[in-house]
Amino acid sequence: MNLLIFGPQGSGKGTQSELLAKRFNLAHIEAGQLLRTAVKQQNDLGKKLNEIINIKKELVPDKVIGEVIEHALKTVPKNQGIILDGMPRRQSQVEMAEHILEVLDRNIDACIYLDISEAESLKRIAHRYACMDCGHKIVVGRDIPAGESHCAFCGGNIEQRADDTPEGIKKRLEIFHRDTQPVIEYYRGLEKLVDIQGEQSIEEVFKDIETALKEREII
Ligand code: AMP
Repeated sequence: MNLLIFGPQGSGKGTQSELLAKRFNLAHIEAGQLLRTAVKQQNDLGKKLNEIINIKKELVPDKVIGEVIEHALKTVPKNQGIILDGMPRRQSQVEMAEHILEVLDRNIDACIYLDISEAESLKRIAHRYACMDCGHKIVVGRDIPAGESHCAFCGGNIEQRADDTPEGIKKRLEIFHRDTQPVIEYYRGLEKLVDIQGEQSIEEVFKDIETALKEREII
């Protein structure tokens, strides 16, 4: 099974991808996370990516994300499915993503779209942190109490993502509406889109995804 997952910032793409990956033994390929790992390397490419992602808060060039995704997909065994999170993100990446998948003999079975309002997106991202030691994603108010600054899993320090500033979130939501929404509509046109109401509990969202995949006889 090969899935794509879409949704605005804070819609739960990462959380649902991980649950799907666990349940159906899929490889979770997360574009943003792969790029953040490249930034940490602090070589020339890492510095350029840091400037685009964390300072300008824009999308990286298609060629870069294409290479990163292709490289990651090639490491997945042929008999294992994938969930691709964060690519394609604009129309110019659609053909590129489809070509990469086709060469690797993978058909897209469905595209999951987690729909949440802009207000909910802003609210969720304001509470989104990550542990600097173990990398766990932490939601303040859910995983740890408000005011706490240590990881619930290892006690390490937690921080917000460098691009999760109010201005960064606003810019990325604009990019989502302008560039990614047309991609979502393209997959709706192909009848591959699975619309999911994202403003429910994690368990309810997961259940709706499973039901929709069953209805389409994908699982
Ligand atoms: P995310 O973790 O999905 O919010 O992505 C973090 C950042 O990585 C984005 O704001 C972009 O700068 C960059 N990025 C992630 N996916 C893509 C993509 N498909 N194309 C271009 N840039 C991307």
